[in-house]
Amino acid sequence: MKKQHLLYELPGFNSKAVDIIINAEKNLKDKYEELEYLCDYHQSRVLNYMRELNISQRHFYSSTGYGYSHEARETLDKLFALVFGTEDALVRPHWVSGTHILSDSLFALLKPGETMLSVTGAPYDTLRQVIGTEGNSPSSLKAMGINYIDIPLLDKSIIDIHLIAKILNEQDIKLVLIQRSCGYEFRPAVSIENIGETIKKIKSISKNTMVLVDNCYGEFTQPKEPGHFGADIVAGSLNKNPGGGLAPTGAYAAGTKDAIELLSYRLTAPGIGREVGSYSDSYRPFYQGLFMAPHTVLQALKGAILTAKVFDMLGFSVEPKWNSNRNDIVQTVKFNTKQQLISFCQTIQSNSPVDSNAIPYPWDMPGYNDKVIMAAGTFMEGASIELSADAPIVEPYIAYVQGGLTYSHVKTSLIRALSVMIEKNEIII
Ligand SMILES: *Cc1c(COP(=O)(O)O)cnc(C)c1O
Repeated sequence: MKKQHLLYELPGFNSKAVDIIINAEKNLKDKYEELEYLCDYHQSRVLNYMRELNISQRHFYSSTGYGYSHEARETLDKLFALVFGTEDALVRPHWVSGTHILSDSLFALLKPGETMLSVTGAPYDTLRQVIGTEGNSPSSLKAMGINYIDIPLLDKSIIDIHLIAKILNEQDIKLVLIQRSCGYEFRPAVSIENIGETIKKIKSISKNTMVLVDNCYGEFTQPKEPGHFGADIVAGSLNKNPGGGLAPTGAYAAGTKDAIELLSYRLTAPGIGREVGSYSDSYRPFYQGLFMAPHTVLQALKGAILTAKVFDMLGFSVEPKWNSNRNDIVQTVKFNTKQQLISFCQTIQSNSPVDSNAIPYPWDMPGYNDKVIMAAGTFMEGASIELSADAPIVEPYIAYVQGGLTYSHVKTSLIRALSVMIEKNEIII
């Protein structure tokens, strides 16, 4: 006898909601198995590089003051470079977020009078003020005389390589920005193969054009990373996939020696670069987080697939579909009403290990144009590798759901969310 009945005994679980989840799961076994092999692959890769660098207790020690020759810091850079398939890397708690490191990367690679081209449409919301297409910050790229153009994706998620070739043949483009994940858009992420082809094409036409990949949410979702295809800088947040839920803060950039050197002068100052920067807490969570990341991403991916399957079965439109090839951990669900959307996000929050009493409401979050509702009852504040759901409050009402340190957390949160929606008559079974 299977122990499924245990789920029916839990407080707040509507038996119809449990039925829906159990039925959905039956269809997902093959998909889960495929992802488990991917996890094995990355787990072994990360482990092999940790063995190669002979990671020891001494790599976890803290430093103070300027932090010259801090072995923990320097070895972590090497480990990320190996894992992300690049010549070099910088991993620092001093970068406050993904936006921060992407902003520094843009300022590192671009000079006044030069032009950047975003080939995945308008970039992630918080980068628009950095570039200067939104707001009028006196410190944006635009204010520094840097030009910006973008081209839309084909079929919502395919990079228009022909158009890029045409543009590169007609004008000087110093930097191409590729965003791997969907951001706040109802579409699948761009595939790693498509990113690889794009980088190859760019480099074959214009060797001096730099390629920056916003890798947020994409890490470990595919066997290869953009660095394996020669991107100059690949950057992301440690509050997301590569932090494995353990890194307390920070961001990473992996790339070519030259590009990473330029970035190091933005990290600190020209002439100083990567040689300084102390951290008076242990580096252990960064190493352990990277070690855990393939597993954590597996949990998040399985949770995302279950979310897709369940809401698809209930007649909502979802992106990506449960059986699609995934290139990020984001799952979007399009609700019919604002009330359903808010109710879903509030239940995610109330089924969180931290701040379960807090009730999220739409608010004006810095860097975003519309009001945003954010459910994130997380150990690391705002960490979106932990189960979180957020949504700009505009029609159509789309929730962006991502993360989950354990698959069971995602699954039981879904049961609870469906239970609430069934009881409020927001979904009809
Ligand atoms: C999260 C995210 C960012 C920004 O990262 P923060 O850590 O939130 O600043 C940039 N791009 C994409 C695609 C993201 O998902």
